[in-house]
Amino acid sequence: TNAKETFSFQTEVGQLLDIVAGSLYSNREIFLRELISNASDACDKLRYETLTNPSLAKNADQFAVLLAADEKAKTLSVSDNGIGMNHDDLLETLGTIARSGTGAFLEALKEGEKGEVGLIGQFGVGFYSAFMVADSVDVLTRKAGEEQSWLWASDGKGQFAIEPGNRTECGTTVILHMKKDAKEFLEEARIRHIVKTYSDHISFPVLLDAEPLNSASAIWTRNPKEVTDDQHTEFYHHTSHAFDKPWLTLHNRVEGMVSHTSLLYVPSSAPFDLYDAERKSHVKLYVNRVFISENTKGLIPTYLRFLRGVVDSEDLSLNVSREMLQSDPALAKIKTALTKKVIGALKKKAQKAADEYSTFWGNFGAVFKEGLIEDPSLRDRILEVCRFSSTHNGELTSLSDYVERSKEGQDEIYYITGEDAKKIAQSPHLEGFKAKGVEVLLLSDHVDEFWLQHITEFEGKKFKSVTRGATNLDKISGDENADDDSDDDASSMGLNELIAAIKMELGEAVKDVRPSKRLTDSPVCLIADDGDMDVNLERLLKQHGQ
Ligand code: ADP
Ligand code: MG
Repeated sequence: TNAKETFSFQTEVGQLLDIVAGSLYSNREIFLRELISNASDACDKLRYETLTNPSLAKNADQFAVLLAADEKAKTLSVSDNGIGMNHDDLLETLGTIARSGTGAFLEALKEGEKGEVGLIGQFGVGFYSAFMVADSVDVLTRKAGEEQSWLWASDGKGQFAIEPGNRTECGTTVILHMKKDAKEFLEEARIRHIVKTYSDHISFPVLLDAEPLNSASAIWTRNPKEVTDDQHTEFYHHTSHAFDKPWLTLHNRVEGMVSHTSLLYVPSSAPFDLYDAERKSHVKLYVNRVFISENTKGLIPTYLRFLRGVVDSEDLSLNVSREMLQSDPALAKIKTALTKKVIGALKKKAQKAADEYSTFWGNFGAVFKEGLIEDPSLRDRILEVCRFSSTHNGELTSLSDYVERSKEGQDEIYYITGEDAKKIAQSPHLEGFKAKGVEVLLLSDHVDEFWLQHITEFEGKKFKSVTRGATNLDKISGDENADDDSDDDASSMGLNELIAAIKMELGEAVKDVRPSKRLTDSPVCLIADDGDMDVNLERLLKQHGQ
């Protein structure tokens, strides 16, 4: 086709653009960060493609991002010699909500958040943020390996147009026709400052009139001591499309059989896709500075999928496909090393900053506990850094602290599971334990039911559900002097008649009716037999139709 075609933005993009254009957003300058970030991604992508197809880029070692301001024409352009886009790419990516961060932004808007303006800053809206400063935007682009180039143009008011363009080399130029009130972004000093602030970590040179503005060295290759917190935050935002601050930063270099550098971040708030079914990892893999993939299977265990950042190794093969890399034994070695590093760092944090650690735990504990099932070889280390609610006090506890507090004669770790943390804390099953001052773990994550099937004891004490089977409360010397009756002893209380009456009434609905010490206030509670399924697990499985 040679004619100009006009398309409507996807409804969500339209909504987004209304918000973007209408907002008096104080932090508008981030549009440049977003465009440079896209240009850098495009160079990364082409560099990867040239590994298998060197003819794609003639100057594969000269990737760069060029900025040019024209004060007369009131345009600012951001150019790259990266992968470029063809007609279909343009339709797919610059007309829809292709990026997850933007989707999350709209989700948050739908959830009725009022601070719209603040939200843009929190999430960033990628390419569309150009419309915060521009009346209209042109994108002139040509995909590597293709002959035809294209011009995409829009004023951000519901429609965009695509027509054949004129571009001799592959890559993309984004031209912003600046709004009247955004002329400041055409000033050299302003541009220089913005690039230094937000884009210094970009590993390709960012040039303004041929003058480099950034350091252009990959941040993970720098001396860890020389990278500032702000630089980490910017890099974290760029590399993970996140907009919070890293809670924990782990920057390490390992020399040896499989040498590698890792720069990993634990976010300070939970990412939106944490519970997606794919359980994708988000740590980028580089081989010798060359970007390989966004989410490499086999690099990070799924229970650490909250991690962000990059891993770069010179001991992986550059010349194999992403799929083949996944089964490289060297990759498995890196994975093990990283996993131990992360768990070790968490352990330190848990010891040194228990408060902060409980926030981390609130965000990611439920995911992390999947490791108890997935990674038997590291089970003990994982268990060590797990934290649990309990009846002890409002704070989270480790298992060793629980064991330390356990009463004389207590050889079990008691727990109760359920979906609702508040409800289980009120459960009648706990009454007898509370009366004796015997601590019970309150487990309300789905995964708890499952790891408890794999792990039966800790430091010699067996895990025991308080909703299941007889308890040995009598053997435990509690806070009060309990009498010597065992669970099954209904002596002298006139209970036998009552129990008989209840059994008559309930008939087949229950297996047995027994007197118990576990209750103090409530008259009755349901329990499962030792060999039977835990009450909560039974309910969970029923929910899942099993
Ligand atoms: P994100 O970068 O998070 O994917 P953006 O809104 O910033 O989201 O960009 C959307 C998509 O548009 C990108 O994923 C990419 O496919 C495409 N794109 C944007 N800018 C460029 C560019 N300079 N070169 C090639 N593709 C680009
Ligand atoms: Mg982007």
